[in-house]
Amino acid sequence: MPTVPRRFFVCGRKLLFRAKAGDLHLYDGPDAGALYRRGWDDLGVGEVVLLADEALPANCLALSLRQAHAHLPEPVWMQAGRAFQILGWWREHRFCGRCGEKTEERHEELAMLCPACGLRSYPRLAPAVIMAVTNGGEILLGRARHFPDGMYSTLAGFVEPGETLEDAVRREVFEETGITVENIRYFGSQPWPFPHSLMIGFAAETLERAIRLNYQELEDARWFPMDALPPLPDKISIARRLIDAFLAGSGR
Ligand SMILES: [Zn+2]
Repeated sequence: MPTVPRRFFVCGRKLLFRAKAGDLHLYDGPDAGALYRRGWDDLGVGEVVLLADEALPANCLALSLRQAHAHLPEPVWMQAGRAFQILGWWREHRFCGRCGEKTEERHEELAMLCPACGLRSYPRLAPAVIMAVTNGGEILLGRARHFPDGMYSTLAGFVEPGETLEDAVRREVFEETGITVENIRYFGSQPWPFPHSLMIGFAAETLERAIRLNYQELEDARWFPMDALPPLPDKISIARRLIDAFLAGSGR
């Protein structure tokens, strides 16, 4: 993948842009008085600069990372996600989680070091599995309470300590719908910086149809034939890529 040299300026929890000739471009300085800055490789390819926690520089627009997706090429948006995750790590590891001492940032690696007890804290990543479960020409989709009206998506959930990814796929599908899956195959992955997940996609099959819904986790789950799909998540997410692959594989 080609490298994308970029500096990302952040104010609070928003990415900064400037409007130029009717288009939005990443804000590119000045950067005097920055509260924090951190590059993430030796070539200076990427850097995050926290300008301020509240006040915006003049003539700036501040967008959430989700909003920014519409205004950045995919590889640049991915790097912006990395910038947000590094900033989040720095914000949340200022003190040692073991002994409470103030930590020191290491510069030769992405680590916060506790000078008192030696604990190193690295950026957190929370792996989550996401799966397209199919039975012949139908796909199992679920609906969480916070989804926009009518939208359904693939089932997903965090991996628990001690599990393989395949264990997590089997457990999550069973917990949410009572369905047992087999033939689990890796599909692809996607960093998901909200705030620090890594989505790991799978396809899985089942011969079962009866859904025993877990209302703690989902509002609804159903089998959908490929010619009658509900509103789906937008193309920012691996969920949509999984569903699109199901459609392509079904000869649509
Ligand atoms: Zn400590």
